[in-house]
Amino acid sequence: MRKGLGTLVRGLAKVILVVSAILLATVVFRGNSEDAPAQTADTILLHGKIITVDSHDSVAQALAIRDGKIIAVGSDAEIGKLGGGNTRTIDLHGRTATPGLIDAHCHFDETAALYDIDLNGVKRVAEVAELVREKVAQQKPGQWILGVGWDESKLAELRYLRSADLDGVSPQNPVWLTHTTGHYGVANSYALRLAKVTAATKDPPVGTIDHDAKGEPTGVLKETAMDLVVNLIPPPTKEQQRNGILKMMADFNKEGMTAAKDPGIEPDRWQLYRELLGENKFTVRIFALMNGGRTLESARAAVAYLQQEKKPPQSYGDGALLAGGIKLYMDGSGGGRTAWVYDPWLTEAKKPDASNTGYPNIEPAVYRQMVKLIHGAGIHVSTHAVGDRAIDWVVDSYVEALKGKPTKGLRHGIIHCNIPSDHAIDTMALLQKEYDAGYPEAQAPFLWWIGDTYAGTFGPKRGLRLEPFHTYVEKHIEWAGGSDFPVTPYPARYGLWASVVRKTANGIYGTQPFGTAESVDIQMALKSYTIWAAHALFLEERIGSLEAGKDADIAVWDQDPYAIPAEQLKDLNCKLTLLRGRVVFEAK
Ligand SMILES: [Zn+2]
Repeated sequence: MRKGLGTLVRGLAKVILVVSAILLATVVFRGNSEDAPAQTADTILLHGKIITVDSHDSVAQALAIRDGKIIAVGSDAEIGKLGGGNTRTIDLHGRTATPGLIDAHCHFDETAALYDIDLNGVKRVAEVAELVREKVAQQKPGQWILGVGWDESKLAELRYLRSADLDGVSPQNPVWLTHTTGHYGVANSYALRLAKVTAATKDPPVGTIDHDAKGEPTGVLKETAMDLVVNLIPPPTKEQQRNGILKMMADFNKEGMTAAKDPGIEPDRWQLYRELLGENKFTVRIFALMNGGRTLESARAAVAYLQQEKKPPQSYGDGALLAGGIKLYMDGSGGGRTAWVYDPWLTEAKKPDASNTGYPNIEPAVYRQMVKLIHGAGIHVSTHAVGDRAIDWVVDSYVEALKGKPTKGLRHGIIHCNIPSDHAIDTMALLQKEYDAGYPEAQAPFLWWIGDTYAGTFGPKRGLRLEPFHTYVEKHIEWAGGSDFPVTPYPARYGLWASVVRKTANGIYGTQPFGTAESVDIQMALKSYTIWAAHALFLEERIGSLEAGKDADIAVWDQDPYAIPAEQLKDLNCKLTLLRGRVVFEAK
């Protein structure tokens, strides 16, 4: 997901003021704390299957919690003894508990889901037009009509949307419909006029304006070209943004999810998180990455901003909110054929897209300097890199920075890391071993949700290399799982399933065009959404496994993910979610 670059520097000055005004919020992120004697649990979970994801992947029957922390894991008999008069007993009735699931890459915001047109389910171009027509009827002329989630591979017509599809139903309103990847979208003619996009408009740097055979803009704008339109759209109000975050937290909890890494935010979003934490509204832990922009100057501004913050694993709210580091973009999208690759992109899984090999999002030499600057400041950096060429450049940049200054433990990440070359894989293995850095933050659900688009653009040969989890296991590479919501649906159960079965949503180029050689078993998939993801959030001392001394972030499921057929993993149903021992979701 790509977001507009925004105005980091302007936001900075504003936020410094506000942050200094924010009182040191009382620590509100606490579990139950009854005054029980030292060995007594305040909560015990009995008669279950506790998948601990500890180093032996042990499974226990029961677990005891005190003051939000796990004090013991063991048999029903052992844990039963830790109960006292005030202990709350949760009978699992044989159900399975896992650590709360963690999303290592999620644009943590459902504002668009609340207020814009949801295009995730649409199957025909005419349905899009109908939804736009309905929305227009509720708005005044001139007001923006926004939608999110379309994907050409889910449309019967198997083509991009065009201005012409929308103009008839929105003659007096500007329309902007974002593609599910967030790397492109379509504007109607009214919006193109506002943005002054004509046949004569040149592509901006790192952007593409699509044209038809006559040279007219089709309405599709990619990467920075989107900014021509997007910069004209009034941002959601603060109230709407608050609602968007709170909905996301509640929806995460319904899916047994308790933590997220939110990439590429601006200072105003960080400030909003601080406010919500101060109001005791947090039910999901957030590790935020600030947007580092595209220049050395913007990277410097982000570094300066983070220098005033606690560095992870230090946190606000005792493990609730972390000023994690900085996000950079090396390239674009695999769906939009803008990611930086060695061999040309394809269309329909076979036709070369001329000589298009995508492009870097940041001047490569500048990127390398930005990494050195951020790493040199002792700050974690995670870089969006989809194409093999981009990934090579990113891992080589990490090596160079680490050789220059061998600070271990900054855990620099490779976001998406779709088709790493053999060189990149070996380099990640080395970086992890030598420096505790070089971790893929991968999206198994890409294989599913946008898998048909990917099968068309990557093609049959490259597709086999997509998200090579099995190779990672063989090379002792740890990765962190994530949804990249809103690019794919956020429930982590989809990622668990996709890591194992590698099936696309609609099977346009075959059900499993990426093969199954790179599948992993559910045990490995679960690690990528628990303990390995916790490590990517610098929180592995607190969460990611169910062991004495850790925080009681726990999800209880209707089925045992270790026992059911792989196909059923995506239908796992969460029954209960605890965050630090406190119930944040309970199925009715
Ligand atoms: Zn993203």
